Amino acid sequence: MTRVWNFSAGPAALPEEVLRQAQEELLDWHGAGCGVMEMSHRGKEFTSIVETAEADLRELMGIPAHYKVLFLQGGATQQFAQIPMNLLAGRSADYIVTGSWSKKAFKEAQRIGSVRLAASTEGDGFTRLPTAEEIRLDPFAAYLHVCTNETIHGVEIPAERIADTGVPLVADMSSHILSRPVPVEKFGLIYAGAQKNIGPSGLTLVIIHRDLLGMAPLSIPSVMDYSVMAENGSMLNTPPTFAIYIAGLVFQWLKRQGGLAGIAAVNTEKARILYDAIDSSGGFYSNPVDPDCRSAMNVPFVLADPELDTTFLAESKAAGLMALKGHKSVGGMRASIYNAVPLAGVQALVDFMNDFARRNG
Ligand code: PMP
Repeated sequence: MTRVWNFSAGPAALPEEVLRQAQEELLDWHGAGCGVMEMSHRGKEFTSIVETAEADLRELMGIPAHYKVLFLQGGATQQFAQIPMNLLAGRSADYIVTGSWSKKAFKEAQRIGSVRLAASTEGDGFTRLPTAEEIRLDPFAAYLHVCTNETIHGVEIPAERIADTGVPLVADMSSHILSRPVPVEKFGLIYAGAQKNIGPSGLTLVIIHRDLLGMAPLSIPSVMDYSVMAENGSMLNTPPTFAIYIAGLVFQWLKRQGGLAGIAAVNTEKARILYDAIDSSGGFYSNPVDPDCRSAMNVPFVLADPELDTTFLAESKAAGLMALKGHKSVGGMRASIYNAVPLAGVQALVDFMNDFARRNG
């Protein structure tokens, strides 16, 4: 068996230790006589799995007791609709658009109700964050929506730029949740699809301040109503049990890495060596994003000569570096260096990039 260095944007690499443990427990979880996929979500075994997962997540992120943690389905895309369905309550909401994903969230919300564009950096190709002067906020907005890490454009909002605006802040953290400490109290609602830093696809995490519960109109389906889901411990219906189990193993793995501060130190170093390789390539490679908001998780870059793209992808694949092709909307390359990609993997990529530039520059 050969496992390659996996730079997929998602579904993405999982920690090898987690996969091995899941493999070991696949047929018989802790003497239950069956695996997690085969047991009732209401039995005592699975109850202990989900309770431990939630407790570990709360500890990792420092989630206060007045926030509910929901384990949902439907992906982050479902949240694009579910958030306005629950929180608009006949009012309007503000959206800041800093890349493809916040743009999609804004567009989807328009199907549900009244939303305003508070700022957009699309005119600059989504390569920077808006300045404070450019953001036009509605003080009466039901919430302000942001995407704190744009997976395609590689734009990340630094934690210190998260300001209190007087309205609940709603954040799509799909592609950088658990990559560094986060000031949960500054947010009204945090959501993330699992398939990058949490676990398998099919699970969506929602962390919601209790003041935002109970606002949904009765006309929305009960599975879409956060308060109904919260009252039922995310188990109004059958939750994605295996994905929750793997997420729980990932949370335990993260605790062994020194929690979010521990993993953040590794992530910072990974991003540093990769951006250094790009910036010191004499223009052979380039990344267009303002250095103040470059993502530590998703690193898009282009080759000065796009005719070399095919060779770069073929040779990197042969060198055991998987999934470096950029998103079709921006072209070029993208390395997603989530928590489960170790420093050695990023070093292997950097070594390959330096060698490729030397041979083709
Ligand atoms: N938001 C962000 C930031 C994403 O990266 C993605 C997926 N790449 C989504 C939303 C959509 O997630 P899903 O496919 O789980 O609906």
